[in-house]
Amino acid sequence: MTQFSPLYEGKAKIIYATADPDILLAEFKDDATAFNAQKRGSIQNKGVMNCAIASHLFQYLAAQGIPNHFIAQVAPNTMHIRRVEIIPLEVVVRNRAAGSLCRQTGLPLGLELNPPLVEFYLKNDDLGDPLLTGDRLRLLQIATDEEVAKIREMALAVNTHLSRFFAECGITLVDFKLEFGRSRSGEILLADEISPDSCRLWNQDESDPEKRILDKDRFRQDLGGIEDAYALVMQRVLARGRQ
Ligand code: ADP
Ligand code: MG
Repeated sequence: MTQFSPLYEGKAKIIYATADPDILLAEFKDDATAFNAQKRGSIQNKGVMNCAIASHLFQYLAAQGIPNHFIAQVAPNTMHIRRVEIIPLEVVVRNRAAGSLCRQTGLPLGLELNPPLVEFYLKNDDLGDPLLTGDRLRLLQIATDEEVAKIREMALAVNTHLSRFFAECGITLVDFKLEFGRSRSGEILLADEISPDSCRLWNQDESDPEKRILDKDRFRQDLGGIEDAYALVMQRVLARGRQ
């Protein structure tokens, strides 16, 4: 596998080519970054935990009819994925107010958002991943109107399935970020990862606003206990799948 040199090394994963041009290998790293990589660190065993969580959730979503890039987990921290042309958007779905939404609007942390909010950010670290308006999205011609409509519909369907899944794990899905891509045939596939790096997850067994956090906010806010939080998510996600 590793006879192939990396195609791309991102903040959380290294992407390798394989003998099949339509299949890539994604290796999940322990590296952690926040605030557009201004804060850097490492979370012990994160690569293995995120790979296990993402593998499980991608398989679950496929079974619910959401087409995605996952093919198979091939090692504890690596998976085979279908190569797509990534659409440079960070698609965020929010069920409760948190993070930049609170900072930018003054809404209180945890406010329930019904219907859920869908937001499109430009995936561009140099520009700081800015929030797009509908008109700017059209101006940049990143995706056709039809593709944007499809992506929004898929993001909301992912939210429905994942919110229910996590609720059954005793976890509240506060918000999450998705990436989508185009397959060779032009089909829109859910890609990248779904993990505590890309979701806000709150433990329903805890009411304390810091203790309940089970995601990368523990790293962003220096709350400690990051490995234990990720491990709890992994254990509950994998256990739910065996029920
Ligand atoms: P980043 O630093 O951009 O967040 P990551 O380390 O998370 O990068 O991921 C590495 C890169 O792999 C990202 O650019 C991501 O968009 C890309 N990627 C994810 N899934 C696929 C796929 N199925 N095909 C091609 N590229 C992908
Ligand atoms: Mg990433």
